[in-house]
Amino acid sequence: MNLNMKKIRTRFAPSPTGFIHIGNLRSALYAYLIAKSQGGDFILRIEDTDQMRLVPNAEKIIYDVLKLANLRYDEGPDKPGEYGPYVQSQRKEIYHDKAFELIRNGGAYFCFCQKSDIAESKDKLHRGYDRKCRNLDENQVKKNLESGMKFVIRQKMPLEGKTSFTDTVFEQITIDNSELEDGILLKSDGMPTYNFANVIDDHMMHITHVVRGCEYLTSTPKYNLLYKAFGWEIPEYVHLPLIMGKNSDGSVTKLSKRAGSVGFEELIQDGFLPEVIVNYIAFLGWCPKTNREIFTLSELTKEFSTQRIRKSPAIFDYLKLAWLNNEYIKNKTPKEFAEIIKVYLKNNLFDAVKIAKILQSRVSKLSEIPELIDFIYEIPKFSKELFINKKSKTNFENALVILENALESLKEIQSWTNDKIYNTILQVAEKLNLKNSAIMWCIRISVSGKTVTPGGASEILDILGKIESINRIENALNMLKGIKG
Ligand code: GLU
Repeated sequence: MNLNMKKIRTRFAPSPTGFIHIGNLRSALYAYLIAKSQGGDFILRIEDTDQMRLVPNAEKIIYDVLKLANLRYDEGPDKPGEYGPYVQSQRKEIYHDKAFELIRNGGAYFCFCQKSDIAESKDKLHRGYDRKCRNLDENQVKKNLESGMKFVIRQKMPLEGKTSFTDTVFEQITIDNSELEDGILLKSDGMPTYNFANVIDDHMMHITHVVRGCEYLTSTPKYNLLYKAFGWEIPEYVHLPLIMGKNSDGSVTKLSKRAGSVGFEELIQDGFLPEVIVNYIAFLGWCPKTNREIFTLSELTKEFSTQRIRKSPAIFDYLKLAWLNNEYIKNKTPKEFAEIIKVYLKNNLFDAVKIAKILQSRVSKLSEIPELIDFIYEIPKFSKELFINKKSKTNFENALVILENALESLKEIQSWTNDKIYNTILQVAEKLNLKNSAIMWCIRISVSGKTVTPGGASEILDILGKIESINRIENALNMLKGIKG
């Protein structure tokens, strides 16, 4: 069948480890984009054959992450399709049958060696297990099986020659067959290894493009030998470049915790928006034709092509991610952003949309929000020294006059709006023949106890409301009077 005629099918095949590394999510995203950009299907398969590594709740985390990232799959454990089950531990029989089929057609063999008597190959040319059971005679095998001896099934690697394939990204990869061990395909508990299951499943699920990290690049020849032994068509391979991390000192090392969060959920907790993370990881190894940087998922779907995936390592730069997050935040309407920041607000005594407005231009990570707005809910204890500001030319004496006058004028305001408050402040400045910034400074200190706040003085007063604002300014005034007296 002509490959071009086939419906494109890609898959994301995470192991349920309780954690989705951004490298995994990038594989999921690229697999999704490759399928969706060509009208294909994207499949979720859970690779849980390593029962020792299972973590409770891990499967749910996978569903949650894909949902948050908006990567909707067409088939998966909770979305049955034609080629299920989509959880490997539920496919044990399939692997068993396929492994036996492979033995029959000469691509694999029973190995009865116990862990304790497995020896390394002494033959310098060949690696790994010494292949003791590779040539057991048929009768011996039969006897062993009948006597109930435990066994594993191993792949029978060619001892000579080379195996090559062409990867979409890394181009031609060739390996000497002598380097390939007779690796285990089926373990003694009947579970397949990844090396076996990925081939069986990708074939049986009609996967046309295998998209995964480049750590699998050098194992792929042995998978191809399995496809060959079964007489199956080999899928297209799209191996993705390594992801390096940019550390805070600017150095670049393999992406690890040291540089920052490496899990999707951790990044969400740090305060990055899911759609920003998705937008950002699209660029970890790929770039569009132009230098545009902001893309929604559906825009990515239109723009994506495997031809622009690079093989050189990608660099995860947290500062860049924070910049992108801020760009997205700025592009939201205050109402949309208010909805997002709800969880960071201590109570709903103050208008969330107004708070959202003062935060939008200043926030790069949502996790910064509580500290930025803590003063709204409770003014911190602050020192009178804060009233002294060289640039605005304020000191204890004029601060006192400013606050007395501001208080008087603010009390007069009937409808408490930002515009009204702002104009009132300007009038006070004019009356006292002082710079606007002097009045703003003294008011900001009085109501926030901080020298830097999101939003200007009038916006803060607007958020706090008339009673709370007047109250705070009166307290500040008393504090200043305390100095004089
Ligand atoms: N379960 C493998 C992993 O999580 C999947 C690799 C693949 O996509 O083939 O790394």
